Amino acid sequence: MHAADNVAIVANDGGLPAGTVFPDGLTLIERVPQGHKVALVDLPQGTAVLRYNVPIGYALRDIARGSWVNEKLLQMPDARTLEQLPLATLQAPDLAPLEGYSFEGYRNADGSVGTRNILAITTTVQCVAGVVEFAVQRIKAELLARYPHVDDVVGLEHSYCCGVAIDAPDAIIPIRTLRNISLNPNFGGEVMVVSLGCEKLQAERLLPPGSIPISDQRDAALDVVCLQAEQHVGFMSMVDSILASAVVHLERLNARRRETVPASELVVGVQCGGSDAFSGVTANPAVGFCTDLLVRAGAAVMFSEVTEVRDGIALLTARASTPDVAQAMIREMAWYDAYLQKGMVDRSANTTPGNKKGGLSNIVEKAMGSIVKSGSAAISGVLSPGEKLKQKGLIFAATPASDFICGTLQLAAGMNLHVFTTGRGTPYGLAEVPVIKVATRSDLARRWHDLMDVNAGRIADGDASIEQVGWELFHLMLDVASGRKKTWAEHWKLHNALVLFNPAPVT
Ligand code: CA
Repeated sequence: MHAADNVAIVANDGGLPAGTVFPDGLTLIERVPQGHKVALVDLPQGTAVLRYNVPIGYALRDIARGSWVNEKLLQMPDARTLEQLPLATLQAPDLAPLEGYSFEGYRNADGSVGTRNILAITTTVQCVAGVVEFAVQRIKAELLARYPHVDDVVGLEHSYCCGVAIDAPDAIIPIRTLRNISLNPNFGGEVMVVSLGCEKLQAERLLPPGSIPISDQRDAALDVVCLQAEQHVGFMSMVDSILASAVVHLERLNARRRETVPASELVVGVQCGGSDAFSGVTANPAVGFCTDLLVRAGAAVMFSEVTEVRDGIALLTARASTPDVAQAMIREMAWYDAYLQKGMVDRSANTTPGNKKGGLSNIVEKAMGSIVKSGSAAISGVLSPGEKLKQKGLIFAATPASDFICGTLQLAAGMNLHVFTTGRGTPYGLAEVPVIKVATRSDLARRWHDLMDVNAGRIADGDASIEQVGWELFHLMLDVASGRKKTWAEHWKLHNALVLFNPAPVT
């Protein structure tokens, strides 16, 4: 990955056996699995092991040239403190504007653009989830065929309920997350709410007056079906009320048509999950190249996952467009450090057994591979968890690395397209936005041929360049955003639950 590195990873499917001789004379003295590191030189105990020209650890004992360098042989470096970081010191590369690219999207009254036309039913509390799901199934079976321009109906189910300390300062995070998800561009501003009636998070608290941009057609009052309302006698009365309300919104959504909009209307969330050592070699660099294309085209791109960029904090604060943006990043990292500390863990709790099996020794190595998704542009903004994005360019949206929480928070930020890279493989999907999945290895792309949308493994195979895969992804994004193509997750209707980030106490 860098000329100064003293380790490299084995790219070959299935790994390589002991005795393998490379053209430069390097000989493996033991079997090295695919994606795992091999020592390029003798590494005496205490030597900094360099990958991406960054110390990913220190040798715990002498490691001979040609050995397998796994996590058991490395002492992880301490985290960089948040003191004396470089603030906006790096001159961003001169990225020429990229013009002439567009997609077909649904323009909303508030100016945002949807990539899908979905009726979303907001819920105030988990108690109503079963009723809403029952109603959603009936809407799909009995109503949806009458509205051919509506793509789907989704109940926004979540775990928030009365067992939460709703007035705790951190409760603002789950509450604004739910509010802002209701306003996601893919729902066309057609907010309808199902509430129970007695819950702490009352509909008016979730969506206070003024929180929904009012279009010409819409009634000023919030559309709420309250299950405990006296008018409801029997379960079917509740379901019928939800269906009657849905019809009003379906009519309006069905009247909408796609129109040609510039690529700058894309709001893309990138993340990774089930990462391996190839993530930072193939898929994430290709996504990073594509991120630069999107930023050049005037779009918004969010990268997230605090613990997976924490070890690169100095690189990020240097890349901030202004000292204020750098300070905002430090503020988010400090908040997260304290959050982890309260649970008596640190960022090293991030890596999974699968990450390690895939060759990633620790969070430092994982972070260096993860951060490249952000490309090379200046970082022009920072979002706290659950906040709504109001600007273009490259944004750091602070979220946990958990795939579902990260996706949920990026949805709240207003994401209309999601890009997800994976090396171990995950069938991840969201019902609310299309998710384009990028495989880091050809072996995964071959085996999961009907789940992976892009094979970035061709980069390691020598069959495609980072730039080629980056452009391929960019064009696929425009096709998917336009509805001309569906992702595999959409094709199979695979989607995961919304998972709220609730750092507030639960009672
Ligand atoms: Ca993730």
